[in-house]
Amino acid sequence: MILIMGGAGYIGSHTVRHLLDCGYECVAVDNLIYGHRQAVDKRAAFVQADLLDKDSLKKVFDDFKPEAVIHFAAFAYVGESVLDPQKYYLNNVIGTFNLLSVMQEFSVNKIVFSSTCATYGEPKYMPIDEQHPQKPINPYGRTKLMIEKIMADYRQAYGLKYIALRYFNAAGAAKDGCIGESHQPETHLIPLVLQAIKGQQKSIKVFGNDYDTPDGTCIRDYIHVEDLAQAHRLALEKVNDFSGCLNLGTGKGTSVNEIINAAEKISGLKCPVEYASRRLGDPARLCANNEKAKEILGWKPEYTDIDDIVRTAWNWEINRKF
Ligand code: UDP
Repeated sequence: MILIMGGAGYIGSHTVRHLLDCGYECVAVDNLIYGHRQAVDKRAAFVQADLLDKDSLKKVFDDFKPEAVIHFAAFAYVGESVLDPQKYYLNNVIGTFNLLSVMQEFSVNKIVFSSTCATYGEPKYMPIDEQHPQKPINPYGRTKLMIEKIMADYRQAYGLKYIALRYFNAAGAAKDGCIGESHQPETHLIPLVLQAIKGQQKSIKVFGNDYDTPDGTCIRDYIHVEDLAQAHRLALEKVNDFSGCLNLGTGKGTSVNEIINAAEKISGLKCPVEYASRRLGDPARLCANNEKAKEILGWKPEYTDIDDIVRTAWNWEINRKF
């Protein structure tokens, strides 16, 4: 039995589904603040509980006797983390601390953790490998880095087996359109572009077209959510033999303008665009060196063409279920 904390969220729900397809039994746990109950596959057990409520967590461990945990549950709005850091340190850091304590109490010593390329901060070189200095520039990134450090210390002291997966830009939706990205509020580029195309947003505001990149807009490494799900399953299967941190990205960069072009091509519709000033803290370019994840996990992203990623997102956007 695998416990998926944050199993009703975007990446969590895709991972639950993938694990079930691979024959694992799953219990998804989520406080449903940002998660969606409908996103949780019916084959999985579901418990509504919060990381800050230790007694509820203990009950889940007691009832389901998980052998390992995959931990997605976190607040993840960078801007909000700057305005209300307490909310982030409490939920993300103290929440994870609670989870690790309960794991210890129930002798569960395997965890796969959602980390982020935001732990690197301002890039010093490209592509970014796992040795790149970690100097996050916002509280959100700092919470994730703190948890990485806590897990490394727990490994030394208590033999915790952990893999922290540092995602670049998660994107796309399930191939069959069953589940996909649904944030409230939505801040991510691809869904906002698609919503602008559908007329749900007046336009897409492009944050800066004066960057030192070929078309002047920011370049990111978009990694498909099903490739992330697969990496979590592989990490679960490797965590006995390897503990540490791995980047998850395609290694390929796509600019904001290229995303807009892909979305127009796939939808056959025009995207209303407004050019706006740069967003604070946005580096010009972020791309993963994913060699270590490939080597350690035997993982290979299936979606390497941005058109294919955007196509799944568009398919979800026009048939959204939640
Ligand atoms: N972006 C944009 N307009 C938006 C949202 C995002 O131009 O309304 C840009 C943003 O500056 C970044 C890229 O799109 O270069 C991806 O941003 P997103 O918020 O999706 O992910 P992040 O890179 O911040 O994790």
